[in-house]
Amino acid sequence: PFEVLVVGGGPAGAAASVYTARKGFSTGIAAERFGGQVLDTMGIENFISVPYTEGPKLARQLEAHVAEYDIDVMNLQKAVKLVPASQTGGYHTIELENGAELKARTLILSTGARWRNLGVPGEFEYRNRGVAYCPHCDGPLFKGKRVAVIGGGNSGVEAAIDLAGIVGHVTLVEFDTKLRADQVLQDKLRSMTNVDILVNAQTTEVTGDGERVDGLVYKDRESGEEHKVELEGVFVQIGLVPNTEWLKDSGIALSKFGEIEIDGHAATNLPGIFAAGDCTTVPYKQIVIAMGEGSKAALSAFDFLIRNANP
Ligand code: FAD
Repeated sequence: PFEVLVVGGGPAGAAASVYTARKGFSTGIAAERFGGQVLDTMGIENFISVPYTEGPKLARQLEAHVAEYDIDVMNLQKAVKLVPASQTGGYHTIELENGAELKARTLILSTGARWRNLGVPGEFEYRNRGVAYCPHCDGPLFKGKRVAVIGGGNSGVEAAIDLAGIVGHVTLVEFDTKLRADQVLQDKLRSMTNVDILVNAQTTEVTGDGERVDGLVYKDRESGEEHKVELEGVFVQIGLVPNTEWLKDSGIALSKFGEIEIDGHAATNLPGIFAAGDCTTVPYKQIVIAMGEGSKAALSAFDFLIRNANP
C-alpha cells in the first residue's frame, strides 16, 4: 500500500508525485498514458520561464523529474473504480482495468480532460497544423490571419472575443439556431468589427493544402447548401470533457459538468482524497495551473497524513 497514490500522469499528477515523494511519503502514480494532453501538443509558448518547448519534450522532462525520486510509476494503467476508506485515515482502494487493486491512505485524482472533437474530415489530419483547441495557447500563432471558432457557447464566444483582438478576422460557427453564450458576451462579440457570426451552420469539413489548413466547409442547415470559408485556422470550442466517468458511483462530488469539486486546498468532499488539474472545478485549464494545483494537492495530502493516523 501507498501513503499517496496519484491517479493520472499529466502535469498535475507529475507535480503532485514529486512533492509527496520529497516529503518522504511512499508514492505511486497510475496513469493511462503518462504525459497526458501534453503528448498531443506541439509548440508550447506559455510555460512560464521556458519561452518555447514542445509537448513530447515537456512530457519527457516530466518523466525525468519523476524518475529522480523513488516513485512507483505504473504507466498504461487505467483506473476504473474508487472505493473510499470506510474510516478517516484508512485505506482507499483503486481498481485498475486489468483487475489489480491498489491501496493508499491518500489519493490525488488528476485524470485530466479531453477536448470534444468535431469528428469531421480534416480535423485530425490538420491538428496542430491549423486546427487548434486552446485560444490562450495558440491564438498568437494566428496573428493577423483568418480563423474560425466552432461553437457558440460561453467558451466559443470567449475564444472569438479573445482571438478577434489578435488575429485578422474571426468567423464564429454555431450549429444551433442561436448562440448559447451569456448575453453580455454576445453583445461584446457583436460589437467587434472583424467578426462574422454564422448560426444554423454545420461544419462538415476542414480543408487544407496537404500542409496546413486553408478553409472550412459548412452546411447551411436551413437551405442545405454547402459553403466554403477560406481561412488559416480553426479553433474547436465544443466542450472540454473531464475524465471522471469512472468516479460516478464513488461518492466523490462532481459538478454538473462532471468536474471533481474541490475547495481552495484541492480537497474533495471525501477525507484524504484530493484532486488537481483539468479534471477539477479549478477555472482555466493550463499546464502551469495544473502543475500548481498538483503541488497544492500534494501539500494538502501531507497535511492530512501528519494529522490522521491509520485507524
Ligand atoms: P492531463 O494532461 O489531461 O493528464 C491526465 C492524465 O490522467 C493522463 O496521464 C491520462 O492518461 C490519465 N488518465 C485519464 N483517465 C485515467 C484513468 N481513468 N486512470 C488512470 N489515468 C487516467 N496548456 C498550456 O498551458 N499551454 C499550451 O500551449 C497548451 N496547448 C495545448 C494543446 C492541445 C492540443 C491540448 C489538448 C491541450 C493544451 N493545453 C495547453 C492544455 C494542457 O495540456 C492541460 O491543461 C494540462 O495537460 C492539464 O494537465 P492535467 O495533469 O490536469 O491533465
